[in-house]
Amino acid sequence: MPTMKGSCLCGGLRFEAEGEPLFQGFCQCLDCRKVGCGHYAAIGMPEHAVTVIGEYRSYGKKGDSGMMIYRHFCPTCGGMVFDKGEAMPGVVIVNAAMLDDPEMFKPDSVIYAKRALSWDHIDPSLPRFEAMPPAG
Ligand SMILES: [Zn+2]
Ligand SMILES: [Zn+2]
Repeated sequence: MPTMKGSCLCGGLRFEAEGEPLFQGFCQCLDCRKVGCGHYAAIGMPEHAVTVIGEYRSYGKKGDSGMMIYRHFCPTCGGMVFDKGEAMPGVVIVNAAMLDDPEMFKPDSVIYAKRALSWDHIDPSLPRFEAMPPAG
């Protein structure tokens, strides 16, 4: 897979991710509903595969799972570029909406579907999980 590159709205915070994603899909949890417009398009990468270029600020908050999630955003434009969760050590989740080529994102599932908003329709053929997918 070619290197995935992306940036915030102003370009001040960039990322590059090498290799195959661990997972990619949509999250409809309470916080991702706010981060995106009803859901967040997430690409999980091993931490060592992701290079972050530029200044960022972080905001930590307990997620729907009860574990901490740290969202990292550009201090200039506020664009949320990547996040890390206590539930997934060693994994960086990059925001697929920030990709230079957003068509590189190939969603394979929907998580926290129990929080889906009535107007937030996602491809009905994708597998859905009520909350987090089962481990493994
Ligand atoms: Zn920015
Ligand atoms: Zn979420």
